[in-house]
Amino acid sequence: MESDGRLDPATLAAALDDQPAIVSVMATEAATFLAYAHFGDHIICLGDVYGGTFELLGVNLAQLGISTTFLRADELDRLPEALTDRTRLVFFETPTNPNLDVFDIHAIAELARTVGALTVVDNTFATPVNQNPLHHGADLVVHSATKYFGGHSDLTAGTVIGSAEHLAPIMMLRKNLGQMIAPEIASQPARSIRSLPVRVRTQNDSAAAIATHLATHPRITRVNYPGLATGEAKRIVDTQMRGGGGILSIVLDATVAETAAVVDRLRIFFIAPSLGGVESLVTQPITTTHHGLDPAERARRGITDGMIRLSIGREDTDDLLADLTHALDAE
Ligand SMILES: *Cc1c(COP(=O)(O)O)cnc(C)c1O
Repeated sequence: MESDGRLDPATLAAALDDQPAIVSVMATEAATFLAYAHFGDHIICLGDVYGGTFELLGVNLAQLGISTTFLRADELDRLPEALTDRTRLVFFETPTNPNLDVFDIHAIAELARTVGALTVVDNTFATPVNQNPLHHGADLVVHSATKYFGGHSDLTAGTVIGSAEHLAPIMMLRKNLGQMIAPEIASQPARSIRSLPVRVRTQNDSAAAIATHLATHPRITRVNYPGLATGEAKRIVDTQMRGGGGILSIVLDATVAETAAVVDRLRIFFIAPSLGGVESLVTQPITTTHHGLDPAERARRGITDGMIRLSIGREDTDDLLADLTHALDAE
């Protein structure tokens, strides 16, 4: 860049081309974590999170002297004892990937507040259409706009939402780490967000119908979907969500190869590890999104050989169901 402030067009074009690679929700999470947790500080991460988040906290931030305690969904009762006077942030997704676990935002935020920690929720799966974590006590909310905000599987972007006061230190890091989004990319989620409620509500309805139907299929041992939750999970869903979302996972009693054969027979679903687009996507968490996890840890988290994650798009629900039934029933 030229020092007099004017930009040489070729340099500018090259700089803009580089932008999308770093401007994602991972960039947002990095800025958020680094804004609040410094050398010697502590973060708590609950439940299953995006693989990049695991690595960012467990590897990159650890190298900077910022420690993270990871608690699985079935270890949540250990949260009070995990909080210390160096805990700055409690971070979690709800619903989570790929188990669709739900966490009580209000109860967790209350606990975090007892040590002055902020609660940060990754709301990517629910979207603001189905859930508003700030209304339930969260301090900051992040979304991968790569998913539902963009909605068409054609961009990479991320966003963080909170009060001006809470955002100020994050905005400083965003600027100084060079995380600015290119204007022509920024205009795409800005356009797509106008249809977010229409898309998400349709996807809610379709995913709920598909989850209900698949729950009775003889080859399926479990369907994970917030709309099918029972007991305490149902209470949480009813309290903080307006819809179950467009993502579900199903579990077959099958090997990785047998599960892959089912996935390969699908004709409408694209095989891709993303989610939240208008086109339905399917992935096997064990070979894609959660491949990097230690097998024993994966097993403890219920991410099995027979698990398939579905991101329901905006195709006709009956067509999607017929596609799934055919793939499951064919030999
Ligand atoms: C995809 C995803 C991310 C990462 O998003 P990018 O925008 O690709 O960085 C983080 N969290 C969740 C829940 C996701 O689904």
